[in-house]
This record gives sequence, structure tokens and C-alpha cells, in this order.
Amino acid sequence: MAVVDTLARLVACPTVSSRPVVELAAFVAERCEAAGFRVERFVSPGEGKLNLVCSKGPVGTDGLVLSGHMDVVPVEGQPWTSDPFCLTERGSRLVGRGTADMKGFIAATLEALPLLPALERELVLVWTCDEEVGCLGSRDLVAKLAGRALPRACLIGEPTAFRIQRMHPGHTAVRITCVGRAAHSSKPDLGENAIRKAARVVEALDLLADDWRRNIRFADMLDRPFVVLNTATIHGGAAINIVPDHCVIDVGFRPLPGMNEDDLVAELRARVAAWGTVERLRVTPAMLTPEGTALQAILANHASAPGAGAVSFATDGGNLSELGMSPLVFGPGSIDVAHMADEYIDVGELNRAVGVVAEIAARCCG
Ligand SMILES: [Zn+2]
Repeated sequence: MAVVDTLARLVACPTVSSRPVVELAAFVAERCEAAGFRVERFVSPGEGKLNLVCSKGPVGTDGLVLSGHMDVVPVEGQPWTSDPFCLTERGSRLVGRGTADMKGFIAATLEALPLLPALERELVLVWTCDEEVGCLGSRDLVAKLAGRALPRACLIGEPTAFRIQRMHPGHTAVRITCVGRAAHSSKPDLGENAIRKAARVVEALDLLADDWRRNIRFADMLDRPFVVLNTATIHGGAAINIVPDHCVIDVGFRPLPGMNEDDLVAELRARVAAWGTVERLRVTPAMLTPEGTALQAILANHASAPGAGAVSFATDGGNLSELGMSPLVFGPGSIDVAHMADEYIDVGELNRAVGVVAEIAARCCG
């Protein structure tokens, strides 16, 4: 089956976000060019990083954007029962890193391209890098595409088991640095212990998370209808006999659509100001597309559930919204197996995705 072969080829490129994506991008670009697409390569910061924009049909007309990320999450420490970068068939399951998230969608789209009719409106394929490390590729791409007329309808083919999702929270990563004064551990009174300051910060973050939890929004769409905060990593101290002068805490939180992200960072900063300084590392914007877009109506024919809901994870859709797009997240595979050992996509779902992509593109652009 052609789409399975294509997926195998994509999975064989180990595009973990820490590694180059050029080999996979070259394969994807070649397939798009063979189908008559104009291919633009946008170099992104980092070794071997780039985003692809492939387009076909009358330039500047309001057709459709199909988008997915080319990178995958790491496999280290996970109990894989076969080589994660060698697509393995097990019954109806196709096992491999990225099969669900989201090389299955890329493979289905590549297979759908030769099936398309002549395009009267532009079909734009946006393939990004570095999505799994904070949507960095799309962040960079959006800055480079600013001002360009692109279709408003946009499908992000993340694994939603063919449910339509029109909203997700954003994600902001901040680093809190606590500085003390080193001293010999036999004379702690001469120093200032940065880890003890960090402990106060962690307590303050817990209180902040409690306060944010009480501010309920989008209760009809989200399981956790508030700003979720995670105190994620902590590093401090140098040796058992030194009073630590340094401790660093990384924190992630997820603003809801419509919230002022600057205000949330300012609130966090105020809560921990007595003990540490706050630096913003990364921002992935939230996404909220209105109910009832034309694309939603088209997707409804193929959806596994009625209506449009929300997902808890961030996607490139937040960044792409800044280009005037109204993204919907919809694709084959389940997010429940993504990022896990023995990640898989059902072969029937993958085959179905080829037809679904072809029909959606034909409806929007034909
Ligand atoms: Zn993904």
C-alpha cells in the first residue's frame, strides 16, 4: 500500500526535535514538487532546521492550508518493543515514532496530492520543524510570512481520531533564577542559600496555581477550564560542602484564549519577586477558532463526533492564527498513543485519511 510505504519512509528519518529535519524535508519537498507544487524553504534557527511552504493553484486566492509538523519527540528511556524508526506492522497497527503524531497525516496528504482536481483556489501545505519543543518553527515562519495573503481555512492534522477541535490553551515557559551567596557549609551564616529561596518560590507557585484554578473559563470545552501551571524542573547547588548561590526553576503554564499572557507573566513575577527573577523562555499562543466556519462544515462529513471541541495540548495553530488563519485541528490517530512507547496508527485510519484529505482539499480549492 503506497501510503504505508510513504509513512515508512517518513518514520525512517529520525526527526527528533534535537536533530536536523533536512532529510525528511527534502523527501516531502520532492513529493510536493512532483505533484506540481511550488516549494519554498524557510531556514529556521538551529542546525539543519527548516520549514516548508508548498503551494499550488492561483496565488493569493482563499483556498485551504494543510499543516503538520515534521519533528517528533525522543524515544530515550521508553520501553519500545521494536525499532521506533522502523515502521513495523502488527495486525492493524503501524508502529513507529511519529506514526500518530503526526507523520501519518503527512503521509496521507502526500498520497492525496496526485488525486486532486485542477485547483481554482490556492492549496498551501505548511510543514514545520521544532513543534514539539514549543512550536518554534512555526513561530519563526509566521514572522517571515507576515503580510502575505494566505488562505483563512486551515487544517492542522494532529491526531484527534477525526474529531474536530477548534480551541486549545497556549503554553508559556518561564525560568526563575534564585541567586544567593556562596560560603563554606561549616559557616552557613556567612552565605545566603539559593535553594532555600527556591523553596519559597515553589510554595508561591503552588498558591498562584490555586488562585488560577479558581478562575474558570471555557468550562463547556475543557476538562481543566483554567490556567494550568506546572513547576517542571529545578537545578541548584554545586557540592555538599558549599552553601548554594544559584538555583533555577523552570515553569510552564497554559493561558486560555483571550487572556493577556503578559499579565499572567507579570502576576507570576510579582508572586516570586522576593526570592527570584523571572525570564520568559518561550510562548506558544492559544488558539480559538469561531464555531461554524466553512471548513468545519466540510470536516463534519468526515468527523467521528459532532460539533467542535478543544484539546489540552498546544499546536502550531496558535502561531498560524496570527497570519489570519482560522485553524481547526483534525486528523487520524490518537493523541493517547502519541509520545509513548510503541506509538501507532491504525492502518484503516491512515488509508481513510488519504481520501479525507483529498476530498477536503477538492471541496475547498477545486
Ligand atoms: Zn503533534
